Amino acid sequence: MSKELTLKEVGSMFMEAQSLILCFHVNPDGDALGSSVGLARFLKQQGKDVRVFVDDVVNDFYKFMPDIEMVERPEVGTTYDVDLLVVLDASSKDRIGVVGECVKAKTILNIDHHVSNTKFADYLYLDTIAAATGEIMCDLFESMGWATDEKVATLFYTAIIMDCGSFKFSCTRPKTMRMAAKLLECGVQPDDIAEAIDTQKRSTMELLTKVLPTLTFAYGGRVAYIAITNDLYDKSVHTDNFVNYARYIEGVDVAFMVKAVESSVIRVSLRSNKTVDVSEIALGFGGGGHKRASGCTIYASIEEAIKQVLDALGKVL
Ligand code: 5GP
Ligand code: MN
Repeated sequence: MSKELTLKEVGSMFMEAQSLILCFHVNPDGDALGSSVGLARFLKQQGKDVRVFVDDVVNDFYKFMPDIEMVERPEVGTTYDVDLLVVLDASSKDRIGVVGECVKAKTILNIDHHVSNTKFADYLYLDTIAAATGEIMCDLFESMGWATDEKVATLFYTAIIMDCGSFKFSCTRPKTMRMAAKLLECGVQPDDIAEAIDTQKRSTMELLTKVLPTLTFAYGGRVAYIAITNDLYDKSVHTDNFVNYARYIEGVDVAFMVKAVESSVIRVSLRSNKTVDVSEIALGFGGGGHKRASGCTIYASIEEAIKQVLDALGKVL
């Protein structure tokens, strides 16, 4: 069980630590990267010894983000001793992979916004109504009176818009937009970021043409899903938004995508349009996330994984 902190206590913890490692979940997204790299940039400017770790490669899709080259993959077998390990945008320890084993920290602090948070760290700042961990960063900087330069603002803005679907998702609050407005005042160029996000690599579009024919409906059209079979899987291809092609279809309540990263290791991305809480479904398979966007891994064949997800959905629909 974690001790929950106030933002001021979180800020003081950062100021007191001299050496810090920031980390986040595997298969990192814009929120994990933006909130962590933005915070790391600021802490470096304060003279801190800061590194940013993820037990994964960062997809080229995120190359447009300032200072993204700061993100390192830790070497297995090496021990990293630090004052403070900060786990951002991750709700459980398994989500940070080997970072949890190779970093030996005096203190572990978790900053997160997932309802499925498992309170695994020594200290926790959890805000489940924040649209993104990037929002929590804005709150932290404001409450501490810390300045956001243009690059930090760009990183936090990217974090926020990637998790709230550019202000389209239900997690978007008036406060989300006020924060975004303040970030624009710091010099963020929203058109440049939108263009970077909307521009797909040819490899992504080529894969999409092969994945769309797998679109299947179930439960009278209330569920739609697509599949990336193992022969089509390519780690370097960015597929995070593919599930939306199943999601935004008339009559669909729940959409999911199954991706065979190995023939019997199936990553599942779940999205809900309204009534169904997909974090409950993901939790049932050892995963987690938010009510409307969750994920898990199922260790079975892709056909069996689809069957298991459909069975679980059948119980709540
Ligand atoms: P995505 O489907 O885009 O991978 O993830 C959707 C949301 O669910 C994100 O907030 C992500 O952090 C969370 N999520 C995805 N997979 C897992 C998982 O295996 N475990 C947990 N705890 N959360 C996950
Ligand atoms: Mn997030």
